[in-house]
Amino acid sequence: MATNVSEKEARDVVEAAREADWKLPSFGKQLFLGDFRLDLIHPQPQLDPEAIEKGERFLGELRAVLAAEVDPLEIERESKIPDRVVDALKGIGALGMKVPPEYGGLGLSQVYYAKALALAGNYHSAICTLLSAHQSIGVAEPLRQFGSEEQRRKWLPLVAKDHISAFLLTEPGVGSDPARMASTATPVGPEHAASPVDDDITATPVDGGYVLNGRKLWATNGTIADIVVVMAKVPKGEGHRGGISAFVLPYNTDGITVLHRNAFMGLRGIENSVTVLKDVFVPEENRIAREGDGLKIALSTLNTGRLALMAIAVGASKWATKIAREWAVEREQWGRPIGKHDAVAQKLAFIAGSAFGLEAMLDVAARLADNKRNDIRIEAALCKLYGSELSWKVIDELMQVRGGRGYETAASLKARGEKPVGVEQCMRDMRVNRIFEGSSEIMHLLIAREAVDTHLHAAGGLLMGNGDAKAKADAAVKAGLFYGKWLPQLAVGKGQIPVSYDEFGELAGYLRYVERASRKLARETFYGMARWQAKLEQKQTFLARIVDIGAELFAIASTVSYADTIGRETPERKTEAIELAELFCSMARRRADSLFAALFDNDDDARYKAAQKVLEGRYGWLEEGIVDPSGDGPMIPALD
Ligand SMILES: Cc1cc2nc3c(=O)[nH]c(=O)nc-3n(C[C@H](O)[C@H](O)[C@H](O)COP(=O)(O)OP(=O)(O)OC[C@H]3O[C@@H](n4cnc5c(N)ncnc54)[C@H](O)[C@@H]3O)c2cc1C
Repeated sequence: MATNVSEKEARDVVEAAREADWKLPSFGKQLFLGDFRLDLIHPQPQLDPEAIEKGERFLGELRAVLAAEVDPLEIERESKIPDRVVDALKGIGALGMKVPPEYGGLGLSQVYYAKALALAGNYHSAICTLLSAHQSIGVAEPLRQFGSEEQRRKWLPLVAKDHISAFLLTEPGVGSDPARMASTATPVGPEHAASPVDDDITATPVDGGYVLNGRKLWATNGTIADIVVVMAKVPKGEGHRGGISAFVLPYNTDGITVLHRNAFMGLRGIENSVTVLKDVFVPEENRIAREGDGLKIALSTLNTGRLALMAIAVGASKWATKIAREWAVEREQWGRPIGKHDAVAQKLAFIAGSAFGLEAMLDVAARLADNKRNDIRIEAALCKLYGSELSWKVIDELMQVRGGRGYETAASLKARGEKPVGVEQCMRDMRVNRIFEGSSEIMHLLIAREAVDTHLHAAGGLLMGNGDAKAKADAAVKAGLFYGKWLPQLAVGKGQIPVSYDEFGELAGYLRYVERASRKLARETFYGMARWQAKLEQKQTFLARIVDIGAELFAIASTVSYADTIGRETPERKTEAIELAELFCSMARRRADSLFAALFDNDDDARYKAAQKVLEGRYGWLEEGIVDPSGDGPMIPALD
């Protein structure tokens, strides 16, 4: 049974798992504070020639495997990635792209890992999902970041080569709210260790450990995995810190049962499970880091893991550009190619400009991830949020451009002799990106939390509304000192000087805009805090707009920086890169302006009230005249 927890407990659990320190500079953190630090993302770090050579070689091998072995229509038809494809991927080391060479992996850079995922995702999303669940969130990344040397030596060579991994966090009652976790890990002595099964891949003598019980939902790769990371709650007790903890274990351990393979709107071929853990013994040495560190591990793993979803967004948007262009040139209606009609031309420009902007953000964030000079937790989170949202709109516009053929399946197109362009499949596959690995709503909250971190340090007592009168008075003094210095800095900046950033030529105006808008964003955030204080965290739509403005500003700055990088690294593309950057930045700037306009002029309160009336059933009669074919019964049945 899921545990019932209050809103405060849920928040406290996530807060405790947050990385509290900022050891390295963060472009995103400064941006939200009104301090546009272009120097943190520009000039972009140069790629290491060895990493390029290794990455290009691997991309060539991956391309060859995709072309030789993968038939996307077969995966759609059978809802399965054929074994020959999985074997071929293992053969080129695709399971170990991110595992360092000393543990048997390829040790690709983040830049090339992203390119590989984009390529694989382009061919068929299920392949990319397999690879990314395996190494962005599966066993490799948590162990690489948090495992002991002994654990790395034991497990990484396996997952780098041919052992597929999965990450089991979600439960029927636990989606966005890990505090409700019901799976348990009960500390026990060595007498509970089961005798190793015949093909146990890791059998070693054990001292003691934990017994896991629980039910895990939606584990990607969970029907075919060899090794998994499981999150479960250790009860607090004598000698036990307790809390949500992470364990690595072979999937053939006694007591693990795959109950069901889940099927979805898209991602056909994804091997996604309901997994039951019944008295599963795990030796203590299989716990990753300390008891209670599980969520911290999950969140940190996702820091760069989230770039995987941006890679998918980039791959899909580039493909959308190609298809939209080819189709809009060839298809004629009303006497002209449809791309010459204004309504379709606008969509084409949106698709191509967005593809460039998304690629820019990914390139900026991935190079920063490789370079390790910056803290990129905000940029990676913005990439996940913005990439999944914008690419969804891109695919929606692509479907419109393709008309009826966009809605038709690739198999049907092929059967009647047309090119099997799977736009409807892409749409089905892309939709989930806004839901998993942190839904857009949760990403807004997580990023907003980071955005106001400095304010919480400066004025936490006031913002949280806790403490007695004396504590509040002390907090007011502390806040006064901080804001007395900070607020005046927001009045003027480089963005007001007409010649600033002139070295960026025709793109300079966009950087001046970002500088001005960053200060405005910080001021508006401050007004919001002053107005709502402790209630600010309930103002999710306000916070979401703040985050979305920050995302647009990061996108514009990245795009200008990336265009400049292209100009330096491939001078023959310079002019086109500047044109594409202008196209993207003009759209992003308009979006940011309308978000600014809606910050304090909106219907949020009225809509919130209306929603509560809907919840109360006040408009029940509105639901008359339909039949719900799903029938009666609970949405989430009680578990035994
Ligand atoms: C195809 C697929 C693959 C997946 N793979 C994995 C995997 O490999 N491993 C794994 O552990 N999990 C996996 N998941 C689970 C996935 O991460 C969850 O679906 C996701 O965390 C959202 O949880 P939920 O679906 O229960 O939504 P809920 O948490 O029930 O949320 C429902 C809605 O409410 C919103 N919401 C929730 N809380 C708040 C709040 N506090 N404020 C505002 N809005 C809120 C959400 O954004 C959402 O719109 C997968 C899911 C899918 C569909």
